[in-house]
Amino acid sequence: MKEYAFECDIAVIGAGPAGLSAAITAARMGKNVIMIEKNGYLGGNCTMGLPLLGFLDLDGRRITGGIAQEYVSRLQKVGGSQGHRTCPKHNSTTNITPDAFKVLAIEMCREVGVKILLHSEAIETEVENREIKKVVFYGKGNRITVKAPTFIDCTGDGDVAYLAGCSYEMGQVGTGVLQPPTVMFTLENVDTARLFDYIEQHPDEMTYSASIEHRPGYDAPYFRASDNHVFVGLRSTFTRLREQGKCPVDRETLIYIKSFHPGEVYVNSTRLLNTDATDILSLTNAELEGQLQAPRLTEMLRENVPGFENCFISAINPSLGVRETRRFMGISYLTSDRICAGEIPEDTIALGAYKIDIHSGVDRSTIFKAVKEPYGIPYGCLVSREIKNLMFAGRCVSVDAEVMSSLRVMPQCMSMGEAAGVGAVLAQNAGILPAEVDVEDVRAELLKNGAILTMEQVNSAPVNP
Ligand SMILES: Cc1cc2nc3c(=O)[nH]c(=O)nc-3n(C[C@H](O)[C@H](O)[C@H](O)COP(=O)(O)OP(=O)(O)OC[C@H]3O[C@@H](n4cnc5c(N)ncnc54)[C@H](O)[C@@H]3O)c2cc1C
Repeated sequence: MKEYAFECDIAVIGAGPAGLSAAITAARMGKNVIMIEKNGYLGGNCTMGLPLLGFLDLDGRRITGGIAQEYVSRLQKVGGSQGHRTCPKHNSTTNITPDAFKVLAIEMCREVGVKILLHSEAIETEVENREIKKVVFYGKGNRITVKAPTFIDCTGDGDVAYLAGCSYEMGQVGTGVLQPPTVMFTLENVDTARLFDYIEQHPDEMTYSASIEHRPGYDAPYFRASDNHVFVGLRSTFTRLREQGKCPVDRETLIYIKSFHPGEVYVNSTRLLNTDATDILSLTNAELEGQLQAPRLTEMLRENVPGFENCFISAINPSLGVRETRRFMGISYLTSDRICAGEIPEDTIALGAYKIDIHSGVDRSTIFKAVKEPYGIPYGCLVSREIKNLMFAGRCVSVDAEVMSSLRVMPQCMSMGEAAGVGAVLAQNAGILPAEVDVEDVRAELLKNGAILTMEQVNSAPVNP
């Protein structure tokens, strides 16, 4: 077997929204950073066609700045985003072109010298005295060893923390049920104008179950006004076809994200119930069944929904989108009562305000509850309670399941990654552990880079800078 060995200051594992942000930030602060990714591209779920949700709060105020805003501003310059738009259902939508994000991610890493290893999956850790000494990766018959004084786990599933033996939680309180994953796919040749005319004439298609909170104005004129939208609807059609045994997915509605190309939409409506994406057999089954659901759902839309008559699939996403798996224990643990109370503690390193959005893992329902005011994400949620030199960012952080269902959206994952990068660098510079860093220093660095951390800032930040 071919062997490689690398040493660096900070090793970031996983190159999704959290990992990229951690790696770029740490490299900007002068550290020698290696980012290791199992896919052949950067970006994680940012490349699936999803919109960035969670930039604006319920009242349309921008709550996220820093590197997350920088990605959007840079995408806007190349036509890969139209910025932020308020949405009566999702608070806001910030649609992006997935491939433009992939390219931007490479450019931003190269600008600051982040060393990238692709096709390399973390498979082993060596832990001594509560410290990770090295992480071993495997790819194409190569064994790659990475040593670093600090590791930041941004794998979504927290694979490194898991391999290092850290304790974690999984699933909803009481039931342990996990939100279902989804295989996204792209449709071309959708006549959206015809769809909007149809839903205008059939308001029953835009009704939702009682568990879905939303404001008025989520209607045809709203969709017609801009491509920067996410469509959730067709409830009557889905219900009728299910009763007739003709609906191939366990969902009440169709969700698509409008791309900026005419007739193109990214569909987020396959659903793989009872999946545990950390179990290889369950994961395999979900990938395969999800890929099979895509053409079946397309057929259903073609035959039954005005506007979809001539659509066709141009791409099925290369990997399953996983909403929920492990959450690791940090030196802080954020609970839903605190986010519902809009608490912004002094050690806040990012704000969140996206809805509590729980897709059922066992049936076709979804809970969609408003978060009324922005809340703070404490620094300690990113710092392992058990391993001294391990931090995490993204959806595997130290929060309860309801909080995860809100802060899992990508702008918050980016902000958490940025904060983990800053914390790791400041700790190394001071010769202390990430847990010992003065959070005021982390906040000061984040604020220098345009972060939004207080309500004063929320009340004055321009929506689209
Ligand atoms: C179907 C679906 C719809 C969603 N809709 C939205 C939405 O509309 N808007 C929104 O903002 N958010 C949405 N989310 C949530 C959001 O996409 C994720 O919560 C977010 O991307 C998590 O970021 P992350 O960086 O933690 O993980 P990811 O984006 O999953 O990135 C993790 C990266 O780590 C890599 N990796 C994993 N394991 C290893 C390993 N062992 N070794 C090396 N690399 C590894 C992965 O390949 C990946 O690149 C959705 C999620 C799903 C699944």
